[in-house]
Amino acid sequence: MGLFSSFSFATNKRVGLSLLATACFTAAACSSAPEPNSSVAAKATVTEAAPFAIAIHGGAGTITRASMTPARERAYREKLAEAIAAGQQILAAGGTSMDAVIAAVQVLEDSPLFNAGRGAVYTWDEQHELDAAIMDGSNRAAGAVTGVKTIKSPIALARKVMEESVHVMLSGAGAEEFADLHQLERVDNSYFNTEARFDALQRMKQQLGSQDKTAWQQLDARFKYGTVGAVALDTHGNLAAATSTGGMTGKRYGRIGDSPVIGAGTWADNGSCAVSATGHGEYFIKYQVAADICARVTYQGKDIVSAGDTVIHEVLMPVGGTGGVIIVDGQGKVHMPFNTEGMYRASQQGDGPVHIAIYADEN
Ligand code: ASP
Repeated sequence: MGLFSSFSFATNKRVGLSLLATACFTAAACSSAPEPNSSVAAKATVTEAAPFAIAIHGGAGTITRASMTPARERAYREKLAEAIAAGQQILAAGGTSMDAVIAAVQVLEDSPLFNAGRGAVYTWDEQHELDAAIMDGSNRAAGAVTGVKTIKSPIALARKVMEESVHVMLSGAGAEEFADLHQLERVDNSYFNTEARFDALQRMKQQLGSQDKTAWQQLDARFKYGTVGAVALDTHGNLAAATSTGGMTGKRYGRIGDSPVIGAGTWADNGSCAVSATGHGEYFIKYQVAADICARVTYQGKDIVSAGDTVIHEVLMPVGGTGGVIIVDGQGKVHMPFNTEGMYRASQQGDGPVHIAIYADEN
């Protein structure tokens, strides 16, 4: 199986008709059509409606057909479809990319299938510590939270940080106090529990042996996938990106990954693109993956396919940085490159078909 699969497609612009005077469009109506030089002749101008698009991911990693049951695969595809629909409906109605990415991410946060919100991975101490970030491409406003333990929707809190504080990133207990100030829903940490993630932690501990306090850092793809994210372009021409995660299984010492780090796991700028990442966070931080992709668009004049492929396959892959990204540009073009065996992903341009894929060999 190829490890370098990616998918993109051309912008799908909608065509709208605007009527300037009385018009006839059906054969019946046209049977009494006016003379060609009539002043009441139909005048129709064809205008291009503003493009809009959304893409989402549910994590990248060792996701193979062999490790999946048909029922499980169906459940993932259905949840991805639900998340895309939640965001797309907002965009189609003329809503903002910011509202669209939040709606899509919250569907995935609420699902135990993904490593964000319910279903978040366990820390070494059998807790859940959640990270999230959001960025507005129209003005580079950004908000992020790290290490929160009781926030039902970390992405909603990241948005509050962006909109209601003068800061970009809040952490831990302080972030939770800020959530109370804005009446965001708090839950007990056990709300995020799932048996599957607990088993994954136990398997990891067995493989490492309890004495080794650093070896967990060597384990990457096998134990970390499911982070969720969304990027969108709205009909106003604004880009947005959002990412939410439980981080890496067995993380400790307050480890924070790339997801809430603006420029690493999350980035949006109307002048170039919007990116949400998933993968081995330490590499995505060191290589500033999300911002680097958009910088290549800005400064090198690359398109998102070339910029994304270069960073994922030629920059990250050689140094062992596994993972992937979803990217959307200002024309509504989408690209979703990754260098792992799979990445849960979906996209929709305008009212076009919904594209849902999991494995590397799917287009
Ligand atoms: N990037 C996330 C982190 O390192 C994990 C993931 O995407 O699966 O925290």
